[in-house]
Amino acid sequence: MKPTKTLYRTRCGSILFVIQGFTPGDGNSRDGALSFMSRSISLTFLGTSSARRSPRMGCFCPQCSEARRHRPLRRLRASVLLRGGRESLLIDPGPDHGLQMRGYREQRPEFRGLTGILLTHLHFDHVAGLFDTTHLRRPAATPIWAPDDQHGRLKAAFWPRIGKPGSRRRYVLHGMQPEEPVEIGPFTIRAYCTFHTSSHSTVAYRVEAGGKALLYAPDMADLPQTALRDVDRALVDAAFWSRSTKGHAPVTQTVKRCLAAGVREVWLTHVGHYGLTRDQLRARARRLGPVRVAEDGSEIVWNVPAAAPARPDFEGAARHKEDSCALSGISLKAARSIR
Ligand SMILES: [Zn+2]
Ligand SMILES: [Zn+2]
Ligand SMILES: [Zn+2]
Repeated sequence: MKPTKTLYRTRCGSILFVIQGFTPGDGNSRDGALSFMSRSISLTFLGTSSARRSPRMGCFCPQCSEARRHRPLRRLRASVLLRGGRESLLIDPGPDHGLQMRGYREQRPEFRGLTGILLTHLHFDHVAGLFDTTHLRRPAATPIWAPDDQHGRLKAAFWPRIGKPGSRRRYVLHGMQPEEPVEIGPFTIRAYCTFHTSSHSTVAYRVEAGGKALLYAPDMADLPQTALRDVDRALVDAAFWSRSTKGHAPVTQTVKRCLAAGVREVWLTHVGHYGLTRDQLRARARRLGPVRVAEDGSEIVWNVPAAAPARPDFEGAARHKEDSCALSGISLKAARSIR
């Protein structure tokens, strides 16, 4: 499949490219037109499926049959890679992580390894590949950022092998407070509770760089309104289309909410099993507005202007902070009534 590239001029005047049709490891080469952009920021979808990858074993629906015939349409578990400056940050090393990074490295020989990892939550499809994070640039002490209430379980599951001082691959855990900014290279990152689980917090990450803001929310039942403020693109949970299930908001509701908040474009990821071909799913998404369906290898790239504009105004963040996040012990029902 030939990669396609679309060029946009954003509200802040920077140029944004969207590439689709490139799948790590499928033998396609990336369009080289971006290589001249030394100060670019990129977000690559390494995987875009919900908890079970596509095609599903034993299923011969149009979605699974098409993915079996046409390799670029296969979906591995949701994960993204952010690159900018010297940083290469992975959000969620799921069970397909080793495969995803091998494919990515084959396409990007200049890639030197991860500099850090962020976790949204501890479900299998988002964390099971932590042992396979072998492409580390700083193996002596690789930082992992995760909300504080995830640390105990994370240590119980992984630390005997990878957390001890002197381990061959050592990780250092950093906490995240809801809506508090964490500066990592050119990125300012904030975590927002998504009310996906009751056993531990699940967060969406809002990423700002070069005067733009993206929101990555692969598993979400709801979001604080502040998470969507001035967001250019929201990359959201598409596990279920119109049916509300425990822990996952339906796509129809999420899209409506994002567009009402002024989000310019919505991307669907963590895509569920709809039994539709790619064209059918894209058409269904377009009926909701400016909505795109991410595929494995899709990439969003934007440049950092010479003088980056001031960051979006977040003065409302503190006001909503206590009310809006389960990290503070507020339930989803209570958060909805507060809004
Ligand atoms: Zn998930
Ligand atoms: Zn199927
Ligand atoms: Zn989950």
